[in-house]
Amino acid sequence: MPQDVEILQAKLDTLIRIAKNNERKQTNFQEYELNLLNSSGLFDLLSIILEQHQDRFQLSKVTLLLLDPEYEFQRLLDSSSPPTAWQDSLLFTDNEQAISQYFTVLRKPRLSAFSTEQHQPLFPDNTELHSVALLPLVRQNKLIGSLNLGSRNPDRFQSNMATQFLQHLAAVISACIENARLQENIKQVGLRDPLTDINNRRFFDQRIDEETNKALRNQQPLSCLFIDLDHFKQINDTHGHQAGDSVLKRVAQLLNEAMRTSDVLARYGGEEFVILLADTDAKSAYDIAERLRQTTANTDFDIDSSTSLKITMSIGLATMKANTEITTSQQLIDAADQAVYAAKIAGRNRVHQPV
Ligand code: GH3
Ligand code: MG
Ligand code: MG
Repeated sequence: MPQDVEILQAKLDTLIRIAKNNERKQTNFQEYELNLLNSSGLFDLLSIILEQHQDRFQLSKVTLLLLDPEYEFQRLLDSSSPPTAWQDSLLFTDNEQAISQYFTVLRKPRLSAFSTEQHQPLFPDNTELHSVALLPLVRQNKLIGSLNLGSRNPDRFQSNMATQFLQHLAAVISACIENARLQENIKQVGLRDPLTDINNRRFFDQRIDEETNKALRNQQPLSCLFIDLDHFKQINDTHGHQAGDSVLKRVAQLLNEAMRTSDVLARYGGEEFVILLADTDAKSAYDIAERLRQTTANTDFDIDSSTSLKITMSIGLATMKANTEITTSQQLIDAADQAVYAAKIAGRNRVHQPV
């Protein structure tokens, strides 16, 4: 009889252990889910997936493969400089087949032994893995990526295991990724000029403050070019508003192509553009401005298959450096604005730089 009690007690202990273990897993998962749902933006969300998931669920490797045919995610992330550690865990493809090949039409998680031949593209850094779970990420019935969990433990993921938990996780992560992508897009739309597809004035107003602070802190010069197209009204009057628009687009493109990554270009308004040149003194800025002016003057702007026209620009240049009276972003902009006015008075198609 006491033996029976002991057996019963042992069974009960096991059940309690399992229940406690399950409760711990549940809590861990709920905490993780809350972190995902509370993430602030795409970068933050990806940090949680790529940096927290692995430790929290004791995995050897977690990677995320995203379908990104138009380089949208990659462009959105470029501006926030993703850490190099993400290089072999954040993967992109422009080909849906590269993801769909891992799943059946049912798009259920796939649990299996690790096979180098099959799974290498999902785990490029070749960690010693023995079992994997591949979770299809689906939004509105479309495959948007896969979350790939790798373990050194061969028993961790087996094809006969229940996958409700993983399915739930995949659904939460898919929704969060899609939401972050949309949010990021909305943010960027607000800072972009729809006609020319370059930054708008709102973006510029934010950046000029950052750039002036940085230049002051690092004791580096900062130059600002204010560009105003010459006699632009005539182009509209002669060739129509549409032709004017296409010239504006082309000018934005020319300017954009000439920029370094550290430069900030924006459409300031109408036919006015502005450029910030970080760590650039007055002399170098003058050379850059002069090159932009010449390139524009030498370009044929095609407005339809039989008509092309020439345009010119006036450029006002101001530089903030140690020991000048310019010490704020507003003063820098005002000085460049006055310089462009002087360029107009002096006859247009020229760069003016205050002495
Ligand atoms: P100036 O050499 O003195 O700068 O002469 P301007 O004609 O360029 O100067 P003004 O400021 O008088 O006129 C700017 C014109 O630019 C007014 C407007 O017709 C035109 N413009 C402004 N924004 C747009 C736009 O988005 N599309 C088109 N097509 N034209 C625009
Ligand atoms: Mg103007
Ligand atoms: Mg003008």
